[in-house]
Amino acid sequence: MSVIALSNICKEYKMGEQSFLALDNVSVNIEENEYLAIIGPSGSGKSTLMNIIGCLDVASSGEYVLQGKPVKKMTETELAGQRNKSVGFIFQSFNLIPRASALSNVMQPLIYRFISAKERQKLATQALEKVGLGDKLHHLPSQLSGGQRQRVAIARALVTKPDILLGDEPTGNLDSKTTNEIMSLFDELHNDGHTIILVTHEQDIADHCQRVIRLVDGKVVSDTRKGEGARLHV
Ligand code: ADP
Ligand code: MG
Repeated sequence: MSVIALSNICKEYKMGEQSFLALDNVSVNIEENEYLAIIGPSGSGKSTLMNIIGCLDVASSGEYVLQGKPVKKMTETELAGQRNKSVGFIFQSFNLIPRASALSNVMQPLIYRFISAKERQKLATQALEKVGLGDKLHHLPSQLSGGQRQRVAIARALVTKPDILLGDEPTGNLDSKTTNEIMSLFDELHNDGHTIILVTHEQDIADHCQRVIRLVDGKVVSDTRKGEGARLHV
């Protein structure tokens, strides 16, 4: 069973009289523990696709089955619950709460769980230790480097123990040395069994992945697995 099954997904943005087709019949199956890069020029629909995969947005048409469950049939509450349980999101701009410590930032997704503050603290500490920040629990984001901030964001994505990690240009704000450190962390999380999907326009990021999907104008134009030639879709 595919973890993520997208069939004929279209996303249309309406702005007044105008409408724009950001995703045009995208069909993709992603299996458990895949390590996938989504590449393509700016405006090709990469973030739109990630947001749909991560249940932050819904398709205009087509079918999305996430871990065996059709997303279309879910209520808002079920969708939010599924998102919190299955998916961890990592953004280019980290999106940390500036006035909260690393620990409080990582504890934040657990607020929706019925567990004690003590347990939340324990899980968040473990997640920060996992990303190598066990000694920075009480630092504010402003007291951390860019790479360390992104590690906090990765810990926040990991703390709910999701199967799927989604990164939208997660190294876009980092220098090349820090990028390598963050990519080693994603490699390790892949080895731990996570399904990892990264949006990137950097070839060396895509090189870490086992499969590369290329979008142009909202369409999948190629889908390549390591060791195979490109399967062209058009
Ligand atoms: P990418 O991440 O590949 O740069 P996006 O998925 O962000 O591309 O955007 C794809 C296209 O959809 C772009 O042309 C963008 O302008 C348009 N778009 C994205 N979000 C919206 C929105 N909320 N309303 C209208 N148009 C949008
Ligand atoms: Mg984008």
